[in-house]
Amino acid sequence: MTGNEVAILRIGHRPERDQRVTTHVALTGRALGASGMFLATSDKGVVQSVLDVADRWGGNFFCEDNVRWRTCIRDWKAGGGKVVHLTMYGINLPDIIGEIRSSEKLLVVVGAEKVPGEMYGLADYNVAVTGQPHSEISSLALFLDHLYEGSEFSREFPGAKIRIVPSQAGKHTEEL
Ligand code: SAM
Repeated sequence: MTGNEVAILRIGHRPERDQRVTTHVALTGRALGASGMFLATSDKGVVQSVLDVADRWGGNFFCEDNVRWRTCIRDWKAGGGKVVHLTMYGINLPDIIGEIRSSEKLLVVVGAEKVPGEMYGLADYNVAVTGQPHSEISSLALFLDHLYEGSEFSREFPGAKIRIVPSQAGKHTEEL
């Protein structure tokens, strides 16, 4: 695993329709090496689901809702971090990931239905995971995989209560 610290900022979440996708943004980030998610809406249901998974499956993933997204971005930059906004209108991922990898702290912003135009100016990098429309989950997954170059597959999750014993057939788990 490289040393890049990644946090996710999820903007535009609508509690009445985005709960499943936002939860999956967090779980994808957690599984692939991010350290936590800021959610720019109040939604305790999402926070609880994500923290329940983190408690059982280990690691130190944080999930914080009701975050003011402009303040979050400002504070992140003030702490020396860079901001990556995933958008199909940005620079294609393979053309910029080498430069991005040199930043130790990255805040990765993903939207929902409509992202305010202001976001494009606030980001240090607007990054496209192809120039085709798809989703915040797939774009985050591919971004993290390119960032960590596959090392996320051997990541450890300290404090886990359960782990999977990989097998060709059947479901094998181990309580720890
Ligand atoms: N139509 C919306 C807009 O233009 O603001 C985006 C809707 S999309 C369902 C939700 C999020 O998925 C986007 O905000 C972006 O973060 C991510 N996304 C979708 N396709 C992408 C792509 N090709 N590259 C990078 N991110 C993408």
